[in-house]
Amino acid sequence: MAPTGSVPRKKHNEYLPVTPTEIAECALRCEDAGASILHVHVRDELENPSDDPALFMEVVEKLKGKSELIIQISTGGRANATLDSRKARLEVPCEMASLTTGSVNFPNSVYSNPPDLVRSLAGEMKSRGIKPEMEIFDVSMIGAALSLRDEGLADDPLHFDFVMGLKGAQPATIEHLVYLRSLIPQDSTWTVAGIGRAQLVMGVHAILMGGHVRVGLEDNLYLRKGVLASNEMLVERIARISRELGRDVARPAEAREILHLSVGHRIGY
Ligand code: MG
Repeated sequence: MAPTGSVPRKKHNEYLPVTPTEIAECALRCEDAGASILHVHVRDELENPSDDPALFMEVVEKLKGKSELIIQISTGGRANATLDSRKARLEVPCEMASLTTGSVNFPNSVYSNPPDLVRSLAGEMKSRGIKPEMEIFDVSMIGAALSLRDEGLADDPLHFDFVMGLKGAQPATIEHLVYLRSLIPQDSTWTVAGIGRAQLVMGVHAILMGGHVRVGLEDNLYLRKGVLASNEMLVERIARISRELGRDVARPAEAREILHLSVGHRIGY
């Protein structure tokens, strides 16, 4: 579950959590609704994306003792981030972190992830025992993730997140999803993050295909056309659909097993 992201503002959706307190409280509600992973972005007092490890730390601290959620820190680069500032976030106790393995055009900017930066972030995660979620915006990024594994910078079984439907990157179609899945190792786990209205449709495809789902306001602000969503509404809906389709929803402990997160990663709590 990705409650905040870097782009949306409260003026777009009043349910968007932006302060550490709002993010933590929202995360607890989403955990109750069925979420098992919290993908964390933070904002400054002006709602701008922030790189400050102290803000990430505040979110984790506020969940301590109250939550079983797997903490996944974003190492994304929108907040004018540098390699050092993206790496510094990994000092925050967490079990997972996102790792985009290549560059891509966002609608109005370049999301730049040069090979050396990707290797450096991967190496930092590995040395800290943090499992990367390989963020796949484009098919070429799968090969880049496999190269990291081959270079010893990431370990099997890998975990992938297919980001689909972002303008300028791979489209959100079932054909693309089937192809993406065909390219990853058999023992990998995978999630789909559909952008905008693709969130629901691609999430349902993922459930039917044996994958997992990311929902949240980072990727989609609406429940349906013209109706704004809260994070917990999005989690509740996809959890209900999953159960209806015969797939139980993993609680955080089960998700840790599915993702092969080793004991000892849970330094956050
Ligand atoms: Mg993100």
